[in-house]
Amino acid sequence: MGVIVADGRAELAEARAKFSGGTLALVPTMGALHEGHRSLISLARGHADHVAVSIFVNPLQFSPNEDFSRYPRTLERDLAVCEEAGAALVFTPSAAEMYPEGRQVSVSSGTMGTLLEGAFRPGHFDGVLTVVLKLFNLVQPNVAVFGRKDAQQLAVIKRMVADLDVPVTIVGAPTVRDPDGLAMSSRNRYLSAEDRVTALALSRALTAGHGHAELGPQAVLAQAGAVLDQAAKAEPPLEVDYLALVDPATFAPVPPGFAGEAILAVAARVGSTRLIDNSAVVLPGGPPA
Ligand code: AMP
Repeated sequence: MGVIVADGRAELAEARAKFSGGTLALVPTMGALHEGHRSLISLARGHADHVAVSIFVNPLQFSPNEDFSRYPRTLERDLAVCEEAGAALVFTPSAAEMYPEGRQVSVSSGTMGTLLEGAFRPGHFDGVLTVVLKLFNLVQPNVAVFGRKDAQQLAVIKRMVADLDVPVTIVGAPTVRDPDGLAMSSRNRYLSAEDRVTALALSRALTAGHGHAELGPQAVLAQAGAVLDQAAKAEPPLEVDYLALVDPATFAPVPPGFAGEAILAVAARVGSTRLIDNSAVVLPGGPPA
């Protein structure tokens, strides 16, 4: 059976009913699918009988100065990727279908939604949570899979599911990278060859920080920061929005002497392209240096 494509609520409800005999995993995306998305679909297949993918460029999570209108849209190719990767259902709603006139109520992402990405993209996580909750209500999955590439997004979604008793199991998936280390992203297609060389500093910084975990949080940040400082002098330069070592559950900075798993997160711009990356770092703890 080929993949079923539903672009409206009625079509979705009809298609969803076909899978009522088994469990369903949802992989929410904004399309322009790459190997990272494909790996999420593969992982989802191991967590449920059937997999649904949503493709929706959500206007609520973009600020007016961001790339909503030029965000890549490659639907025909995306449908082929979904089918090849083993999805049974693809939901491709329009903005009018998702947000009919008169909308007032939305989800608030709380303090976690104002930190790091939230500080640079005000309202972003409220937009993410609102669309994710709507997608959960429409698709009614048992499980949903999100990439660790967007670690703060994964954390706020887990928080929403816990705080609002949403009956969906959230699964985090590893970040898929190109062979040179750059984390795959739909936005990488904006990068020129020169931009890409500069952009590699993100993953290099994470690796450098990671290699100094035993020396504590300050050393991790100093090593990663040195790589970013070097890239800031490159042509084109890297413009860093933040580098932080945070608690995975709260996204607050870890204190000196912190022990356990932390997330080293970075966001930076090359030209007009904004990139994020992160890596888990296990800190052995001990007295602050
Ligand atoms: P997006 O289409 O960028 O909104 O991403 C849809 C889902 O794919 C999100 O859960 C992302 O975290 C995940 N994702 C994006 N890029 C990657 C990647 N390189 N590796 C793993 N997951 C990814």
